[in-house]
Amino acid sequence: DSFFEQVPLAPPDVIFHLTATYKADTFPQKVNLGVGAYRTDKGKPWTLPVVKKADEILHNDPNLDHEYLPIKGIPTFTAASAKLMLGADSVAIKERRVAGAQSISGTGAIHLGALFLSKYYPKGAVAFVSNPTWANHKAIFNNVGIEVADYPYWNPATRGLDIDGFLGALNAAPNGSIIVLHACAHNPTGVDPSHEQWTAIADVMQAKKHFPFFDCAYQGFASGDLAADSWSVRHFVDRGFEIFVGQSYAKNFGLYGERCGCLTAVTRDTVTAKRVDSQFEKLQRSEISNPPAYGARLVNIVLNDPVLFAEWESDLRTMSGRIIDMRDKLYKKLIELDTPGQWNHIVDQIGMFSFTGLKGR
Ligand code: PLP
Repeated sequence: DSFFEQVPLAPPDVIFHLTATYKADTFPQKVNLGVGAYRTDKGKPWTLPVVKKADEILHNDPNLDHEYLPIKGIPTFTAASAKLMLGADSVAIKERRVAGAQSISGTGAIHLGALFLSKYYPKGAVAFVSNPTWANHKAIFNNVGIEVADYPYWNPATRGLDIDGFLGALNAAPNGSIIVLHACAHNPTGVDPSHEQWTAIADVMQAKKHFPFFDCAYQGFASGDLAADSWSVRHFVDRGFEIFVGQSYAKNFGLYGERCGCLTAVTRDTVTAKRVDSQFEKLQRSEISNPPAYGARLVNIVLNDPVLFAEWESDLRTMSGRIIDMRDKLYKKLIELDTPGQWNHIVDQIGMFSFTGLKGR
């Protein structure tokens, strides 16, 4: 007898399974609309020119070795990541109340944050995620023993945000709930709250003492402007919230396979930040020992060099610009063809994802 006998067969991941099926399909005009990865006009992945430059610099570095990184990653990388997310003039950074750890991309950042919460957040708290959301949110929180519920987000009638349902659920949730928020370019709807709506969300969350856990996988990818895309996070920090924010460099650097990201915590004061940081280090040690170096080294080079940073911003505008242009062209074509129905949501939505309102077969 083998104990493996009791192991049930898990279904394949829907999106990655679709990609595998897509690859196997020989139809010449096939298009994969499933996976969240940027493609060029020719349908090919794009290596950012600035990443190629950083790669050159890295490989010509005579001091490059293959030693372990520190447990929490490259210190200048995590510092630059916090600055990128919170703003160069962030009060929280000035007041030294920020903690952070380099992570295995955005997924790893959310995992590390969730693991931390499973240990130190008051027991029994539920994590609320948007309905719908990126499927991994629920799995990540469930894996560390945190129960997940959802808040309304998508309004099928307007193909926009169900702000009343959203605020209602925040109000109805037990005080001190964990609220997972997409910082920008919501996956999968492409619908983001306006500044006014974010303010209303923050109002309720402040009154209810909820804990904001931002997932930021698309900074610079939505509007093309890094500050605009992190407005929500900065707004919460400006209002005095303590937060977690998970960053991914998969999309905005095109470093999907390199798995580099960052978990940042903003806390009330320096002493708290130090304690949190020490636990990030302790948890990270037992999880992955230390993070992978390559992708973070590339990002570290770009984020800490003003000339390369400006080039990166231009690459971001190339990607976000193309996405905006595609939406525009699709919208115009639908109108030109007198397609029945309303299509403004195609251009009102933002980022790589779109809920078209079309029904599957
Ligand atoms: N969060 C959201 C909403 C995403 O869409 C993704 C990727 O698709 C991620 C996080 C994390 O991605 P990664 O682990 O590749 O950085």
